[in-house]
Amino acid sequence: MTNEANNKQKQSTNENKKYEKDRVVTSTHQARLVTGYNLVKLRIKTELMVAQECDRLRLITERDTRICNDYLRIIKHNEEKILRKDGKINSSLLDKLTLTTSRKTQHKLRTTVPHDLKKRYPRCSPGEFIECRDKSIWTYESWKTQQDLSEKELNRPQFKKKIPRKLFTRLLDRGTFQLIPTTKDTVAKMWLEVRDSLDTKRSGKRYHNRLLLPLAYSPYHEKKLKLGKIKSLELVYKSKEQQWWAHVALQYTVPLYQSTQPPAVLGVDLGMKKTAVAVLLTPSGKVIMDELRFIVNKERQSKIWQLKNRIKSIQKLLDTSNNNGQPTKQLNVKLYQLRRRLRSVTEQELGYAVNQLVDFILQLKVRYNLFVSVGYPKDIRKRHPRGSGNKSLRSRLHKWCYRLFITKLQHKLNRYGFEPHRVVAIGESWTSKICSRCNSLNTTRTGQGQFNCQDCNYELDADLNGAKNIGKRLIQYALKPMHGYTSIRDTLTNEYYSITLFKCLQPLGQWLEDSAKNTSSL
Ligand SMILES: [Zn+2]
Repeated sequence: MTNEANNKQKQSTNENKKYEKDRVVTSTHQARLVTGYNLVKLRIKTELMVAQECDRLRLITERDTRICNDYLRIIKHNEEKILRKDGKINSSLLDKLTLTTSRKTQHKLRTTVPHDLKKRYPRCSPGEFIECRDKSIWTYESWKTQQDLSEKELNRPQFKKKIPRKLFTRLLDRGTFQLIPTTKDTVAKMWLEVRDSLDTKRSGKRYHNRLLLPLAYSPYHEKKLKLGKIKSLELVYKSKEQQWWAHVALQYTVPLYQSTQPPAVLGVDLGMKKTAVAVLLTPSGKVIMDELRFIVNKERQSKIWQLKNRIKSIQKLLDTSNNNGQPTKQLNVKLYQLRRRLRSVTEQELGYAVNQLVDFILQLKVRYNLFVSVGYPKDIRKRHPRGSGNKSLRSRLHKWCYRLFITKLQHKLNRYGFEPHRVVAIGESWTSKICSRCNSLNTTRTGQGQFNCQDCNYELDADLNGAKNIGKRLIQYALKPMHGYTSIRDTLTNEYYSITLFKCLQPLGQWLEDSAKNTSSL
């Protein structure tokens, strides 16, 4: 016993030395910050606005399309003149064709131009012209590169939909927009003041009107707006709901997540019975109940199953009535409604799982140098088409939107300073079949979601087994680069991360090897 304890002490001191090495490496870039953007969507209460104001809101945001199309037309007719050798448009030459120079500037005066846009749109401000010009130039250039590559004649670009207008805060005190909270008893708690881009002539002076828009505002928005600095605003019209929305982009900066703690890998699996299972693998080599999470909302889960069964039965009914030539319109409507509900419920459940996981990870972050490995099935839907024979597998596939889950998780964790390589999507093929203790494939799965290994008589929850395997896979990749790559690939984003970023996983690898030799340690 004493010998064992001594050995353990030795091991831990060795490990500590390793971490100290890492600390030296990481301390060199301590001032690094992570910046990101976060969108807060606020509905504009148009029902409280006067018709005149609504019209003005429409005018501000709609005008762009016409001007952009004009710009595209001018580019088309003067292609030879303004196209540079490198295939880019010379914007100053385009300006010479379209805009007269203001009388105030000291430059050479340009009082007449072939296509006077100011004459055509007298109320549009120069800043807005520049915005439209850049937008049409980008569109033209991307079309041009596509056209040069392809042999077919491609359609020329044209703007059909409304282009959302970006209003940037250029100055702190007199920006182009401002959020004004009111404590007084008014119809809205938050107002958005927008300096509209239309030039209004009043007594010979150029004057920009300010438009006050009432916003739907709740404590939820208040909390979200506090998280960052307001950077830009976009006014968006949703034609389906006939609603106006203000999208406020927030910029946040957080210090990069660094740690001198022992490394650990959190394996996350989207399970069958559970929404998600997360298990922590640490150098000590034991799964502790505190470091294990089964994330599931039973109520919602049973609702999902109910909805699925109802959809199934309606599909059957639809099939028979189709064959018998009976009308199917009502059934189709019902099916559409049910599918929509199913989607919204699954999205709720996924959001819940992501939030729970983020909480869990933030707790663990204090104690460990944490990496997260999430199972992602690559092209699995393509590999198992309808009629491939494995019905139960297919029904499982369509339960979760893996991509949505992982991107949500990555995005959210980025807000807490997690570098992208700390959350890696790992291919999850075979992870549900391999025994997480002895790597044997001689395993069975019982109906109740239990996993049995025939070789080492290991018995545990099937989803937990999968999560463990996913965590182990990241460690294995970090130790032994697969297929000659010296980097780890994120299967979702196809990005390669250098192995050196995962160097601190070495002690975990040691533990893996030990556990393979001595199966009782797990
Ligand atoms: Zn086994």
